Amino acid sequence: MIRITCLGGAGSVTGSCYLVESPHSKKILVDCGLFQGGRQMESRNLEEWGFDPGEIQTLFLTHAHVDHSGRIPKLVKDGFKGKIITSPPTAELCEIMLLDAAHIQEMDAEWQTRKNKRQAKRDITPLYTTEDAEASLKLLSPMERDNIVTVEPGMKARLRNAGHILGSSILELWVEEGEETLKIVFSGDLGRKDQLIVRDPHEIFDADYLFVESTYGNRLHRDVEGSKKELIDAIQYSVSLGEKIIIPAFAVERTQEILYILGEFLRDGLIPDIPVYLDSPLAIKATEIFRRNKKYYDEEARAIVDSGYDPFGMPNLRFTSTTKESMAINERPGSAIIIAGSGMCTAGRIKHHLKHNLWREGASLVIVGFQAKGTTGRKIVDGAKQVKIFRENVAVRAKVFTIGGFSAHADQGDLLEWVSHFESNPKVFVVHGEATASEALSEKIQERLNLIAHIPKWKERLILKPKEVVVEKLPAGEEVTDMKTPMINTIIDLENELKALRKRIKSGEVDKMIGEDEVDRLKYIQDELKSVFIS
Ligand SMILES: [Zn+2]
Repeated sequence: MIRITCLGGAGSVTGSCYLVESPHSKKILVDCGLFQGGRQMESRNLEEWGFDPGEIQTLFLTHAHVDHSGRIPKLVKDGFKGKIITSPPTAELCEIMLLDAAHIQEMDAEWQTRKNKRQAKRDITPLYTTEDAEASLKLLSPMERDNIVTVEPGMKARLRNAGHILGSSILELWVEEGEETLKIVFSGDLGRKDQLIVRDPHEIFDADYLFVESTYGNRLHRDVEGSKKELIDAIQYSVSLGEKIIIPAFAVERTQEILYILGEFLRDGLIPDIPVYLDSPLAIKATEIFRRNKKYYDEEARAIVDSGYDPFGMPNLRFTSTTKESMAINERPGSAIIIAGSGMCTAGRIKHHLKHNLWREGASLVIVGFQAKGTTGRKIVDGAKQVKIFRENVAVRAKVFTIGGFSAHADQGDLLEWVSHFESNPKVFVVHGEATASEALSEKIQERLNLIAHIPKWKERLILKPKEVVVEKLPAGEEVTDMKTPMINTIIDLENELKALRKRIKSGEVDKMIGEDEVDRLKYIQDELKSVFIS
């Protein structure tokens, strides 16, 4: 009997955390995210864990976003000394994300303490400190995706590409249960098909139990091409009037996607060569990590690198790390594109740029990410005529462009398609979504895919027992015994190679290289393929 307790990311989109317990192996955790969005939700960060952090041997981290990683320093502060297994890019991103999260916790506590002092109330200690974050980083144990590893006796695991942000992973977990082995898959956050920079989510075919995210379980995204056109319109509008284009963006992935798209526009001559400022120390550091991790790019991003360009670079791009450089941006007249955080306009340097530009007719505010209720960004999107910035009322005269097509999350269609690849009829747990989103996805999974789906509540305990028919077993002692999945995965890789090859041939770029030899080589490969099961 395996027990999974949903300690976060159940009935909500934040705080992801699942405790896996089995009689034969130690306790493990999958993700340890921060609860975000309102005081009530955030108060969950202060609650007891419901287990002893010192007893946890292994924490699997699907990706670096703080709603999946942001409580790790608290776990360490409370006694966790085990390994944090995650992909190498996630480990790199965690270094900047967790230190930044600790800094925010410290600043918040300091601000709250100052406020309390005036009311003769007690001091506030931060949820965790920079020291706790630094101690967490020492426990990171990066593991390349696609390899099966024995985590401890009776438990094996493998990370797969989730296509959501750089380094994001799906977790496959095999847990021995008496004579049987149960396979549990955690989707983590899944990206959408053809998303920029990262490869498409890995398709998985077998699991006994599947935990699938449902952030956009009730939504279909707008297409990327339409969104790109809207962004060009926004830039051209403000350039024609000599004003600035302000883009609030999240530091990891969205910022790099925007840089990627702007680079593409510029190379294709679709926008004029105006200054572009990346005005966020965190986003600058994240972009450097993206630049270092080329081997995780998808084919299109690789092609840009191969043709000698930096996918996140432009001749007129300036990284403004210091406050002085940041302030100088608004002193320069004329058009410019300014990308700054926070993504929902609630904190950070974006507030200065809004104060300088929001009231200017001809300026553009381009919203490219999710805006939660109650945030300044949401108020503007909802049509507020003025908003409060640094305690000052600022009129909204800039043109607001809300562009919804740049999501890094699979939508309902993508999620259903991903789940449909499972051939083993897994029992599905729909997690990581607001109630309406999880319910919509759960219904569709049951109706369309004929699978049993359940939406666990926060703190709900799930008992997983071996089914009568176990699709696959991993005999003990061998590292890779599950050969059906690697076989199917190799076929998928082959299909992708063929698709890429067909694309190159059709485009005409290899015309001069096609001869009799090349055709013969392909025919030889075809014969070899046919002979795989002939002995
Ligand atoms: Zn995420």
